[in-house]
Amino acid sequence: MTIGGRVTRGAATLPVENPAWAKEFARAPAASTQDVDRAVDAAVAAFPGWSALSFAERARLLRDCRTLLHRHVDELARLLTLEQGKPLADARGEAALAADWFGHTAALALPGEDLVNEPGALISMEHVPYGAVAAVAPSNFPLILAVTKVAPALLAGNTVVLKSSEVTPLASLRMTELLGEVLPAGVCNSVCGGPATGAALTEHPQIGLVSFTGSVPAGRAIARSAADNFKRVVLELGGNDACLILPGADVTALAPRIFAAAMVNNGQFCAAIKRIYVHASDADQLTSALADLAATARLGDGLLTGTEYGPLVSRAQLDRATALVAEARAAGARVIPGSRTPDLPGHFLTPTVVTGLPRGTRLEAEEQFAPVLPVFAYDTVEEAVGRANGTEFGLGGSVWGDEEHAVSVATGLDCGTVWINTHGVLRAEAPFGGYRSSGMGTEYGYWGLLEYARIKVRNIARP
Ligand code: NAD
Repeated sequence: MTIGGRVTRGAATLPVENPAWAKEFARAPAASTQDVDRAVDAAVAAFPGWSALSFAERARLLRDCRTLLHRHVDELARLLTLEQGKPLADARGEAALAADWFGHTAALALPGEDLVNEPGALISMEHVPYGAVAAVAPSNFPLILAVTKVAPALLAGNTVVLKSSEVTPLASLRMTELLGEVLPAGVCNSVCGGPATGAALTEHPQIGLVSFTGSVPAGRAIARSAADNFKRVVLELGGNDACLILPGADVTALAPRIFAAAMVNNGQFCAAIKRIYVHASDADQLTSALADLAATARLGDGLLTGTEYGPLVSRAQLDRATALVAEARAAGARVIPGSRTPDLPGHFLTPTVVTGLPRGTRLEAEEQFAPVLPVFAYDTVEEAVGRANGTEFGLGGSVWGDEEHAVSVATGLDCGTVWINTHGVLRAEAPFGGYRSSGMGTEYGYWGLLEYARIKVRNIARP
């Protein structure tokens, strides 16, 4: 952990497992309540100095963070693969993107403005930071989803305490250690531990804002505790994105792109395609094209060349996905498993296509967060839109087919991002956030940066 510029091991440790081998390969420090307090104190103490720097100076330091992290991409990527399971090439991509995100963020601006400028009054507004921000990140993209919080929080003038997932803590702990080479002591701190550590941090009275990415239940717990003192929260929660294929689309040609968008990070991506709605006349053709793709997927240890899909991140995640599939089968669905899982003890699940699901199964209502892809046949586009909107989630959705028709159908999807003929593509320039149970608030770009600042108005009377 990095607390007040010092790397500290903590009094206790917790195991970190390599999910491809289902075996502990390292231990991470486990923060005590005192460690959390010390980290928040350090962030609070560093705040006056950091917020007093000019915006341009903070941006310059973020660019230095970018350069520094780029020098450590290989080291961070290896840790990511070991703790998360993703193929090394994907881990390198994530580590490089995390480095670049500091650069993308540094290019943003948050200017104040004069609102009234007349003989009797000058009213202006500026953006001011909250103070110490708690950033809590999940296990699927441990580095980039930490940086998408840390970088804008810092640019806006806040200091940060980061808590990564206890399942995947190592790459981000190492990253905060590295950031200490560039940032002043106490500006970016990290603690390590599970939900209790997260709660101790997010409930801390000195924390001005909580930026959380993770599951809906954890988001709810944070929102509830924040309500007591009206702490500001940004919640990026689960998704159950629908992919709606219009009648007449060439489903065989689309299948590889749809399959890829569903299987990003082994389905462990908030904005992966989680449900497919296809016209009844195209359903068999699409299902067989998807099943063919699943049959050739190369699963294995992410450290080995040629691995396309690693294991799921934890046994709990595998058990949950397996239970959803078993429930679907018991409800009469057809379950089509993909290629063989490797001969390893880890948490492997082959890409699995599921069809013929009756309404109301959990595989339609809940987020599977795994390489399990349900295909639902519809009769009318209106019915498909209704089913796409019929869950508690509202993160993203996509419509595939003739662009003009797809754009008009997409207006009916009740979610934060609609994609047309693509899915799950996120860019630093575009805001991203969910509706309903998928969260509140926005990340990325100018709109994401705005979340990390309050508005302060200055009203000068000029008699
Ligand atoms: P999780 O909710 O189990 O854990 C996320 C983080 O929250 C971890 O650091 C965990 O220790 C912490 N935590 C858990 N309970 C807490 C509490 N009561 N108070 C404070 N912290 C607490 O999620 P996960 O399994 O790591 O990640 C998967 C989930 O995250 C999925 O639902 C996925 O859709 C979602 N997610 C959303 C986005 C998005 O941008 N909307 C992005 C990635 C992942």
